[in-house]
Amino acid sequence: MVKDNKLYDLLGVSPGATEAELKKAYKVGALKHHPDKNAHNPGAADKFKDLSHAYEILSDPQKRQIYDQYGEEGLESGAGGGGAMNPEDLFSQFFGGGSAFGGGGLGGMFGGGGMQQRGPPKARTIHHVHKVSLEDIYRGKISKLALQKSVICSKCDGRGGKDGAVKTCAGCNGAGMKTMMRQMGPMIQRFQTVCPDCNGEGETIREKDKCKQCNGKKTIVERKVLHVHVDKGVRTGHKIPFQGEGDQTPGVEPGDVVFEIEQKPHARFQRKDDDLFYHAEIDLVTALAGGTIDIEHLDDRWLSVEVMPGEVISPGSVKMIRGQGMPSLRHHDFGNMYVQFDVKFPSKNWTSDPAAFETLKTILPSEPKTAAPPAEAMTDVVDLEDVDPSQQARAQGATGDDDDDEGHPGAERVQCASQ
Ligand SMILES: [Zn+2]
Ligand SMILES: [Zn+2]
Repeated sequence: MVKDNKLYDLLGVSPGATEAELKKAYKVGALKHHPDKNAHNPGAADKFKDLSHAYEILSDPQKRQIYDQYGEEGLESGAGGGGAMNPEDLFSQFFGGGSAFGGGGLGGMFGGGGMQQRGPPKARTIHHVHKVSLEDIYRGKISKLALQKSVICSKCDGRGGKDGAVKTCAGCNGAGMKTMMRQMGPMIQRFQTVCPDCNGEGETIREKDKCKQCNGKKTIVERKVLHVHVDKGVRTGHKIPFQGEGDQTPGVEPGDVVFEIEQKPHARFQRKDDDLFYHAEIDLVTALAGGTIDIEHLDDRWLSVEVMPGEVISPGSVKMIRGQGMPSLRHHDFGNMYVQFDVKFPSKNWTSDPAAFETLKTILPSEPKTAAPPAEAMTDVVDLEDVDPSQQARAQGATGDDDDDEGHPGAERVQCASQ
């Protein structure tokens, strides 16, 4: 005895209808009232929605049971019942995408098998970050990475026990979840819970029939070593996929494993695309009189760089060494290495020989003074003092990092104006 016939009436079946009868009634009705076929009949869309709603409930044995017993109120008061399905989604589950009215024609739709064109569901892709040193990217390498993964038990072929020993759980009809009902005053609250009979597995195996290798779990954990090819010149963000190497689960296509390359920071070099950037500290005499700089490269080589006498390397200047950057990923030609020079000045009182300064003055060119006080100016003779580190930070902050003035506000203004 059912409480309410409404949903059965919508589909045009009796409350005793079998699942097959319900399905057929839905198919016929849904095709007839689908909005695509009823552009000039606005009532059809509502009818189509109602049909979908009715079928969605009656095709689910648990929902149908609640409906039969309590009517639609029983379903609506349920907590966590999940939103109703979009009618179009339900429709396309039956007829496969939006193709129901395509070239296939209506005839094919009622032929057996429906149009379930999806294969088994596929598990999610698993992402790993693979951190690689710049040296390894320069030379290329193969990383062997071990993975723990679930694989289908070979002894029971993923059944969990002897053939026929695995039974669909009677408590939940194999769903793993059970709908329970609870009276809350005048309301009947419906809630879902993990089936206690099978712990959510949806099936039961008698203890003695369980597969000895996987203990009824259907899968076992295996260690698998993947060979990840770190190609020369590969960049951060590059992805290396391994199809189907994810966890195996019966009835689910295993997902892919994807390694994403991340280049570790390097102590000596910074990389930009295929170019390398290097800071070289040279002393003042090398900057002025020339000398040799040694740069340790990313393979076992050292680069020997000659600074020619008279070339004059000024602090912060940048030079290029052609072809000593990173190999490019595809063609293995090389980027360049850019060397920025820090010129280290001698420390205070580097010589006690006053003659050395006189010699320097005769050797080094001196710039003509650009600003001299006018003849009538009052001149104060002042001292330069050392600045302690905390004051230095303040002084530099105040003058915007300009290192060739002494914090004289006027000096900066003049400089800005001349730019
Ligand atoms: Zn169960
Ligand atoms: Zn097994």
